[in-house]
Amino acid sequence: MGTPSEPQPTARPDSGGGPATPAPGTAATPSSSGPATPPAPGSATPPRPGSAGPPAAAATPVYPLSLRLEGRRVLVVGGGSVALRRVAGLREAGAEIVLVAPRLTPALADLADRGLITAHRRGYQPGDLDGAWLVLACTDQPEVNQAVATDAERQHLWCARADDAATSAAWVPAVGRAGAVTVAVNAGRNPRRAAELRDRFVDTIGPVDRLAAKEQVPAAGGQRAPGRVSIVGGGPGDPGLITVTGLRRLREADVVVADRLAPLALLEQLAPDVHVVDAAKVPGGPAMRQDHINHALVEHARAGRAVVRLKGGDPFVFGRGREEVEACLTAGVPVEVIPGVTSAISVPAAAGIPVTHRGVSQGFCVLAGHVRPGDSRSSVDWAALARSGMTLVLLMSVDHLAEIADTLVSAGLSGGTPGAVVSDGWSRQQRVVTAPLRDLASAVRAAGVTNPAVVVVGDVAQFAATGLLLPVSPPPPGSPPSPGAPPSPGAGNAAPPAAGAAPSPTASASGQAGRRVLVLGGARSGKSATAEGMLAGDGTVDYVATGTPRGSGDAEWDARVAEHERRRPAHWRTVETLALAEVLAAPDPAPVLVDCLTTWLTRVMDDCGAWDETGSTAGALAERTEEVLEAWQHTRRQVIAVSSEIGSGVVPGTASGRRFRDELGRLNARIAAASDEVWLCTAGIARRLR
Ligand code: SAH
Repeated sequence: MGTPSEPQPTARPDSGGGPATPAPGTAATPSSSGPATPPAPGSATPPRPGSAGPPAAAATPVYPLSLRLEGRRVLVVGGGSVALRRVAGLREAGAEIVLVAPRLTPALADLADRGLITAHRRGYQPGDLDGAWLVLACTDQPEVNQAVATDAERQHLWCARADDAATSAAWVPAVGRAGAVTVAVNAGRNPRRAAELRDRFVDTIGPVDRLAAKEQVPAAGGQRAPGRVSIVGGGPGDPGLITVTGLRRLREADVVVADRLAPLALLEQLAPDVHVVDAAKVPGGPAMRQDHINHALVEHARAGRAVVRLKGGDPFVFGRGREEVEACLTAGVPVEVIPGVTSAISVPAAAGIPVTHRGVSQGFCVLAGHVRPGDSRSSVDWAALARSGMTLVLLMSVDHLAEIADTLVSAGLSGGTPGAVVSDGWSRQQRVVTAPLRDLASAVRAAGVTNPAVVVVGDVAQFAATGLLLPVSPPPPGSPPSPGAPPSPGAGNAAPPAAGAAPSPTASASGQAGRRVLVLGGARSGKSATAEGMLAGDGTVDYVATGTPRGSGDAEWDARVAEHERRRPAHWRTVETLALAEVLAAPDPAPVLVDCLTTWLTRVMDDCGAWDETGSTAGALAERTEEVLEAWQHTRRQVIAVSSEIGSGVVPGTASGRRFRDELGRLNARIAAASDEVWLCTAGIARRLR
């Protein structure tokens, strides 16, 4: 056993029996570590006679233990991708890592070159174990791993073999972290299942953590625990583009002070008792004054609350983030800044425009154009920018685009320089206008494109592309539905406004036919909340209430309407009408939410007296449904209709009940056939059927 063997770098992550999963850098936190070591059933080698240690009987449970490795030496044998993943986890735990392998992956070599791990570029030798508390054998050569394991056994050292779970003395679980909580999962010999369960647990920790944190307030002695302010960059508006830490802070928040351009869809995920302050600053419109915002942040934190200041993009890019930090510091309130994905880079990207590109642009300059060139408040040297050769990215500049373009051209920048304006980036309303710099302002005016928009001037603007595949972001899993409340649309793995909700990167400047979506579900399935979630990030929405007018004696319906009003954005308009065809035909850009076809049909059947099968009433009913179908097919508005999922398996006890089932089934089927998307909700989970 003493013969040194040459461990080879593991060329394939699973060549030593480990499962193939993404490298650590690609694994999204909080799932920090790779999957459990034990290989999948079937791939495990049976214990060999003479192998290291007593083979674990399949039925004997493992003994879990959390190791505090900080400053303790851990030996890693192997220099391939399995070793890389183990090293990543060990570094997170603060271990002193000594790695032995003749060859290292580039990332491991880099860690060694920077002195972050100690690497011996040679084969394993028995003395390597000296001084180590733990050893991980992760070469792709079973005989080397075996030698390491045998030596470790002899020295009473714990050894985890990557290639042979059956004989390995220790197993590496699937690990996930959220704040102070570490989740470690072993799922027998099924690492994928372990990773899956780990993700599920980590996803539930946010809300649970918040409750735990709340329970700790007030602290011992009757004093309230101090609050804190987290200034969180929410990214350009798509709920999937907030950082993992930002999302975690949001889930832990007691108070959220939100900006207009923040990913407002995430507010839908908050627990009902979270206080949301709308701190929108609409240019030229209503605005919450900055000093009032600062005051609110400080006062809520002083009252012991976890405050999230949710901002669009990055807090330190035209975000007044530093002013808020200073207000907190002055008041002695703990404050942190969680950076965000700035619109300056991500909104051009949504249109396929890279702000730099090899051979085209070596740099970019981000500036605000809310003050016109020549204005005494402007500190921008436009002439220098015109000469810079850099991509110019202008925020808040649509209103002064003509003057800005003229100034740049007068200063020597070619009027033929490609330009692009991307408005409402990452939303369904996203539009892109491209034109040479000299024509850009008039093209934008002609298209009616307004703020929020990012202007790109430079050769990279030529990349504005159609057909770009954009990541589609399902809203992150929210808290489980609370008893009695309709399930949140994000609960479980709900995916609205996922597939199909990708912004059309170059939506033409002229109007296009609206997207038609049908959301089906049973009673209390979360269908209404799902549909609302699909539109949560949008501006004004026409909410078409089709139930009996409020106060007409239907207490359950009244309660539903009240619940809906509580959770929906305040700026939505409610239209109580049965004239769906008219709403669908109206030349209004606001999206429409019809809630719901079931109540619409009930009332229309009432109107037509169509509960009994007679020729004349059937004709009247058919006319009303045809009219709606026709309008649905031809509407230019974006429209989502909610309806009850009703199958022929449902057998109502009365003839009129059966009639209703058949009518609704037909209506649903025909609306579905004329829709771009059809979703089905069950227990708060939305699945796209088509
Ligand atoms: N802190 C933010 C910028 C705030 S200034 C960030 O880092 O992104 C507000 C300006 O940002 C808007 O006027 C517009 O120019 C730009 N902007 C923000 N979100 C945008 C979006 N989704 N689409 C287009 N422009 C956006």
